[in-house]
Amino acid sequence: MKTRITVLGAGFGGLELCTLLSDALGEQVAITLIDQCDAFVFGYSKLDVMFGRTTLDAVRLPYRHFTKPGVRLLRETVTAIDPLTKRVITDAGQHDADILVIALGADYDFAATPGLVDVDEFYSVAGAARLHHVLPGFERGHVVVGVCGAPYKCPPAPSECVLMLHDMLTTRGVREQCEITLVLPLPSPVPPSPETSKALLAAFAERGIRFMPNRRVTAVSAAQRVAMLDDGSELPFDLFLGVPKHRAPQVVEAAGLAEDGWVPVNPRTLQTKFTDVYAVGDIANTGTPKAGVFAEGEAKAVATALIARLRGDGEGRLYDGAGTCYIEFGGGRIGRVDVDFFSGPKPTGTYHEPDVALREDKVRFGASRIARWFGGSPGRSSR
Ligand SMILES: Cc1cc2nc3c(=O)[nH]c(=O)nc-3n(C[C@H](O)[C@H](O)[C@H](O)COP(=O)(O)OP(=O)(O)OC[C@H]3O[C@@H](n4cnc5c(N)ncnc54)[C@H](O)[C@@H]3O)c2cc1C
Repeated sequence: MKTRITVLGAGFGGLELCTLLSDALGEQVAITLIDQCDAFVFGYSKLDVMFGRTTLDAVRLPYRHFTKPGVRLLRETVTAIDPLTKRVITDAGQHDADILVIALGADYDFAATPGLVDVDEFYSVAGAARLHHVLPGFERGHVVVGVCGAPYKCPPAPSECVLMLHDMLTTRGVREQCEITLVLPLPSPVPPSPETSKALLAAFAERGIRFMPNRRVTAVSAAQRVAMLDDGSELPFDLFLGVPKHRAPQVVEAAGLAEDGWVPVNPRTLQTKFTDVYAVGDIANTGTPKAGVFAEGEAKAVATALIARLRGDGEGRLYDGAGTCYIEFGGGRIGRVDVDFFSGPKPTGTYHEPDVALREDKVRFGASRIARWFGGSPGRSSR
């Protein structure tokens, strides 16, 4: 009988894992990939949609184009997981596996921040799509970009947001009438890379963007147009762009897989405490940030281990905790930071100055994933 591998979540981690397994093992294994959505959207595409650089239709990558030998992709919602028997229940039935990989990402906990549902957020596809229509009408007043808790996905994204917002307001000739404030629950914009943080702080200062580090938004009042911060202070706003507190999906918590909010794993092998149950991506507590590049690196490590095991050939590679992040600096320039979490005693980041030429790198990054996962045209949805 073929080995049955069930992968929960067709996001960055799930798509990469299934692609690598299919490329290496094809029909020799029976992979079931389950996701509740009908399309994948890159995280950074949300910023592009929000600021009108593209449309939601252009960045949606429908799962019907993910066709790989040995992989069945099912559009179902996971409602229960038994990590001991590796049985998964969905709204459409049950799936039994020999090997289970949980790649369900991070959910947004709107209830954790009173009032957040009444204002805008840009971390969900729906929130970004709504802002695509809201932002062009904003002409005057104070915009607060506020993060409601850490850890959150893609630590540089709120910094990118304020720089892109500055550009948009400047292009429209209304920047002078607007103030921008960024509230971040981190000591600096990109803590593992002081150089990157320094460059972002300089970019904020040049543009008159106020930065409030080590602060978290605890509540928002849409009626009074004020955000409450964790030091008890209040910040008035005319437009609030939030980043909700993140949490593990409820179904993962109910399965007893989460501890302190996330799934504990061996950070080098991504194995959970349950035999033949792995967790990759934002859901897993590896010590690396919640970002697509890290989800992909973790998926690669699990793929090499499973391929080696199923071929009876060695042990696979350990996860290296390294990744490259591209950062929008505004003015069409992209910065780059290569971060490494596991090699030394503490995380390090190598910073590359922002440059318009680096945009090509970012485009290639997206295009190569689209081609690998969906076999699509490399230009599509890659910005
Ligand atoms: C604004 C923004 C900008 C970003 N920019 C970058 C960037 O430039 N570079 C970068 O590397 N990362 C970036 N990220 C982060 C990146 O998007 C995530 O870290 C990455 O997608 C995580 O991959 P994952 O596989 O763990 O989870 P996801 O990609 O979130 O996939 C999880 C999947 O599980 C599915 N799912 C969840 N619950 C269920 C259920 N109960 N049943 C069935 N399916 C379910 C979801 O539908 C989803 O498809 C950004 C994120 C945001 C919000």
